[in-house]
Amino acid sequence: MAVVVSCAGDNELAMNLHSSLASKFSPAPADLISLKEDEITIQNKELGIKNDAVRKSLDEFVESNPDLVSYSVTEFGDIFTIGVPQSLDKVILSCEMCGYLARHEDELNIHKRTHGLLFIP
Ligand SMILES: [Zn+2]
Repeated sequence: MAVVVSCAGDNELAMNLHSSLASKFSPAPADLISLKEDEITIQNKELGIKNDAVRKSLDEFVESNPDLVSYSVTEFGDIFTIGVPQSLDKVILSCEMCGYLARHEDELNIHKRTHGLLFIP
C-alpha cells in the first residue's frame, strides 16, 4: 500500500509539494515519490516512513507557505488531501483524539477507524 496525496485539482501546488517531499525524503529513488497531475503517490513502506511522518511533512509544507494560509491537510486512511476546507458552519463533529473536523457522523467514524488501526498493539 502507498500513501496518496491529492491536491484537489491544483497541479501547480502538487508540483511544488512533490519537489519539497522529494528533497525532504532524499535520497529516494524517483519512482518512490511520483507525481501525476494533482496527485502524489508515496511508496512509504519502501521509504521506511510512517503516515505520521507524511502528515507532518504536509503540515509543515502548508504552514511554511504563506500562499497556503487558508489550506489544510485532511486524512482518510492512506489518502491525504490538501485544500481549502469547507465552510466551518457545517462542521458539527470533531475527533476527540486529533481534532479532525467532520461534517457527517459516517465521515467521523471512518476517520476514527484510522486511529484504531494505528493503536492496535
Ligand atoms: Zn482523529
